[in-house]
Amino acid sequence: MALAYCYDISAFVIILCLLYAFFLQRLHRVENNTIAFAALLCSLMASGMSVAFYSGPLKYIELVVPFRVAAWALTAVSISLITLFLYMGRAYNIGVIKPLLFIGLPFGTDILCIILACFDFGPHFRTAAYCCDLFIFLVGLNILYVYKRNSAVERTIMLNLMLVATIAATVAEMLYPAFEIQRFAISLLLAETYFNLKNPEDQYNSETGLLGLESFREDMRRRFYYMKRHGGEIYMVMLAIHSSETFLKLLGEVNELKLRQSVMSEITRIGDETAVYRVNQGVYVFLSEKGDRPEAVRIMKALQTRFESTFGAEAYEMEIPFSVCMIELPRMASDMTGISDLLHMAVKEGRMYGRTVIDVDTLDLSNEEYMRQVDEKVRRAVEDGNLEVYYQPIYSIREKRFVSAEALVRLHDGSRFIPPDLFITVAENNGSIVEIDDFVIRQVGRMISDRNISDLGIRYIELNLSVSDMLQDDIAGKLTKMVETYHIQASQINLEITETSDDTFTGVVEANVMKLSHLGFSFSLDDFGTGYSSLARIIMMPFDIIKLDKTIVQAPFNMESEYEKTNAMTLLTSSAEMIGKIGAETVAEGVETPDQLKLMEDLGVDLIQGFYYARPMPESEFVNAVKAMNGNKR
Ligand code: C2E
Ligand code: CA
Ligand code: CA
Repeated sequence: MALAYCYDISAFVIILCLLYAFFLQRLHRVENNTIAFAALLCSLMASGMSVAFYSGPLKYIELVVPFRVAAWALTAVSISLITLFLYMGRAYNIGVIKPLLFIGLPFGTDILCIILACFDFGPHFRTAAYCCDLFIFLVGLNILYVYKRNSAVERTIMLNLMLVATIAATVAEMLYPAFEIQRFAISLLLAETYFNLKNPEDQYNSETGLLGLESFREDMRRRFYYMKRHGGEIYMVMLAIHSSETFLKLLGEVNELKLRQSVMSEITRIGDETAVYRVNQGVYVFLSEKGDRPEAVRIMKALQTRFESTFGAEAYEMEIPFSVCMIELPRMASDMTGISDLLHMAVKEGRMYGRTVIDVDTLDLSNEEYMRQVDEKVRRAVEDGNLEVYYQPIYSIREKRFVSAEALVRLHDGSRFIPPDLFITVAENNGSIVEIDDFVIRQVGRMISDRNISDLGIRYIELNLSVSDMLQDDIAGKLTKMVETYHIQASQINLEITETSDDTFTGVVEANVMKLSHLGFSFSLDDFGTGYSSLARIIMMPFDIIKLDKTIVQAPFNMESEYEKTNAMTLLTSSAEMIGKIGAETVAEGVETPDQLKLMEDLGVDLIQGFYYARPMPESEFVNAVKAMNGNKR
């Protein structure tokens, strides 16, 4: 008796704390967790009543039986509610049959047995009541098992453990009636369930008051899982607001804020009971609980009507460019990545062609899919060992042999290569370029020392560095380390830098170039003539080599009209002349034909890199090609 009393007091305290925490969260707008709240309340009352029963004079008065019935019944209610909560939280569109059958029915029986047991209809009713509890707990376990993929592993494990503990406590209490620990176990289970509730702070974006991308992901995972098991479809609506950043700025801060608020409040108003997720800047997804079509249609129409008229008033009244579309799952996308692609394409389509209503079925997703695969492969390239460095020999017109080579990285994709232009851009965007170039740096260092290239007549290897490499503080350290590790000379490395846009060439890059230049590394300006490599750069930087891009080298041969041909020729001639006057060596890239070679010779170009002499090739082939060409010319 005394022991049971202790357990009940602790249960009471635990639940009290939980309720307190629950109210605190309530103030911060919790999602609809009324069931959990009700379970807490029932459990609190049940243990409270027991405590009162043991400590007070109640056991001596007439009230005893109804009092005990009420306490036990409340326990039964809280058991059913926890199970129902697990059910509701994990499955959608379950209908009424299942909860009724697996929770409602045993619950009713439970209460009935409790009453019969309390009124001395025989001890087996008491056992039956505990059996009902056990059944409901087992349903809870089953829910956790069936829907286990829907929540984090640790959480599911903890919940499972608590459920098992509660089952054990129930069995113990059934066998030894004096040992009343079930309520204590239930309060622990409730606590665990409680910690499974989502923290509202994580879910809602503080600025917009809407749900965020993480919640969207989690919700979709659950719904896809459900659809896979039970079929059915859901409809959701996307709203994209275009160019919000730039043109809202025109309004000035105060008006912008007002406009933003009015847009937000309209979004929330139209969303009504429906969950609205802000999945990206200016991109919103409306998804109702049921995910049914009529609701989606209503939202889509309402959004269209509202956004076709203006927002704000007077000075800052304006139309807001937008697009909406309806997405049907799982027909249009069968997982979260599919949805991301869809949303991405829909937004792009809307923005590019100014479409307000987008028919998702007409979007071409194959490119998106391919780009994602490339992105994935690029990220894993170094780890998977799919990279290889090729070398393209560079020919000296004066010495009539190969004097250098450019290292060009290749990414294997099964039996093919992913084009470098494509994957280098992807790598620059997702940040893996640094890792890839580190790989190339190591390979080139090793190759120079293993193959003893100076004995073959190769003076240096040209290494491509992206601007993001040059933005690293320790790039000089990295290259120095490479030179030391492989016992080679800094002069055996020539660094090629390409700019990809005007503003990327910052002071850090300049400082790194200067530092490396002092260490003995030489530099090339890559892709001269493409517009990226600016003339200003030539003046500021210590370039030893300037590489004419293949487009400008081939231009005089590719143009249609005489007029264009003449112009292309003028451009090429004066570029070559200018580079010569500056004192840098010239490399002509993309020389493929004897005519092109002849022209380069006439223009006084020093070095030739092109398919005419050699394509980029694997290391061993490269060594053989150099031996064959240079063999007796040194
Ligand atoms: P790039 O630096 O301009 O490299 C020269 C490109 O011209 C190479 O393309 C080469 O195969 C190609 N080429 C050479 N001779 C001819 C020719 O006669 N005709 C034609 N049509 N093309 C010729 P590739 O290997 O596809 O590389 C493309 C770009 O990818 C490179 O352009 C470079 O910007 C980048 N890249 C390659 N390897 C690396 C690397 O290791 N790191 C970095 N950051 N970028 C790299
Ligand atoms: Ca290059
Ligand atoms: Ca180039």
